[in-house]
Amino acid sequence: MPRYDLLIVGGTVLDPANSIEAVADVAVSGGRVERVEAEIDRSMAAEVVDVRGCWVIPGMIDGHVHVGGERATWDPALGFRMLALAGVTTGIDFGSTPETLFDGMRRLGSGINVGGLMVLRPGSTIPRDDPPPPEVRDIVANALRRGALGVKIIGGYDPFTPEVTADVIAACNEQRAYVGYHVGTKETGSRMDGMREVPGLVGNGRLHVAHVNAYTRGSIADPLEECAEALDILTAKKGQYNSEVHQAIPNGTSGRCDDDGRVMADVARNCLRLRDYSTDVEGIRQAIRDGYASVIREKYGTIGYVKYGEAMAIFDELNTDCPLSFPVNLPASAFLLTTGRDSDGDFVIDAVASDGGSHPRNINIESAMALVRFGALSPMDMAVKLSYNPSRMFGLTNKGHFSPGADADVTVIDPAAGKAVSTFVAGKAVLVNREVAQSGGTILTTARGEASARNSGLPYEVVDLSESKLYAGFAG
Ligand SMILES: [Zn+2]
Repeated sequence: MPRYDLLIVGGTVLDPANSIEAVADVAVSGGRVERVEAEIDRSMAAEVVDVRGCWVIPGMIDGHVHVGGERATWDPALGFRMLALAGVTTGIDFGSTPETLFDGMRRLGSGINVGGLMVLRPGSTIPRDDPPPPEVRDIVANALRRGALGVKIIGGYDPFTPEVTADVIAACNEQRAYVGYHVGTKETGSRMDGMREVPGLVGNGRLHVAHVNAYTRGSIADPLEECAEALDILTAKKGQYNSEVHQAIPNGTSGRCDDDGRVMADVARNCLRLRDYSTDVEGIRQAIRDGYASVIREKYGTIGYVKYGEAMAIFDELNTDCPLSFPVNLPASAFLLTTGRDSDGDFVIDAVASDGGSHPRNINIESAMALVRFGALSPMDMAVKLSYNPSRMFGLTNKGHFSPGADADVTVIDPAAGKAVSTFVAGKAVLVNREVAQSGGTILTTARGEASARNSGLPYEVVDLSESKLYAGFAG
């Protein structure tokens, strides 16, 4: 009888939690890591996978993805496969409902672990946009019961008043529910003014500030000054925020206009203003004609961007209620926000996340590897940003490291190509030869969502968010 199920041999192991940066073998049994050592006897394993020349990191955890919900021009569940192909072993969906997320995982899951935040969309996932505090508490409790890890406030689309926004944050904190925030209230926007409002909304509480780079596009000041200010805001309340930054230039937004032809989403209006387009139907049409606005759509089983005539036809056919993308995220902002450190030498922004999944921008590894080649991140920093820190953010204490007994989630990177070449989830190969070898997946939920997760028929794992960095040392 072989002693190990799997032996991943010959790669350079990058395990920041255990300070291992060395060529080593990783032995796996029963879905868990057993040992990491310089040379483990090959004959002791049922299967040996040779990854010489590659880097081996604890499975990549993408802390901001979109694989749930419903979209007019694509099936978000296609994102499960897109994530697996990009080397992700665990993803956190930032804005759907537990039901659509679990349904998508049953239909098109790729064997990865996924938990989700329920999006707060008045008239759709919640009844109205001005719920009083008791109703807010019920909304949060209900999201947890349905299997979500918490909720997501989408200030760039359906902003609340500052009071309601603060109430949602407080209710999540009270119930130890995860709370993700796309900044902006009825008094500010999805910009630096929304970012400036964050400390007042969070008070002494805790909050995940989503995709910080999306607020440093130069809408209010010079983008580099906006980055410095964003880093200062986050540093001033160190320990109270989780945050991430994505690296892709294209964003994702909605072209939807009201009956008077005015663009409804604050994000889309900001994109138009950045290049002096009018914030109405005609402004969008001109931006499509000029190739500035693209339409996001499903094509040939994957999701991509289309432009010009094809984009215009979809925009018109959907009567403006159409997913759009603008090339508004600045590489300079992504660079500064990803590499920025505080006076203790800690990263200000915890993680690199994609805001991808079904959005075609799953480039975490490619961009982090580019920063490694550039000398802006060390290989260990990369493992911190892609795996260790996100594991702490969400209380995934058994992930993000290779200690004995850790979940055998592994991402193998070819440093020459700057890409993931294989992954394992609980010791099972998921990404193999540029294809996805698994289906389904494991739901991440809290103890309060266990019954719903069980009813989904999918395997699930219970996460204790009081163990997360978000709630570390939180007594409120
Ligand atoms: Zn997002």
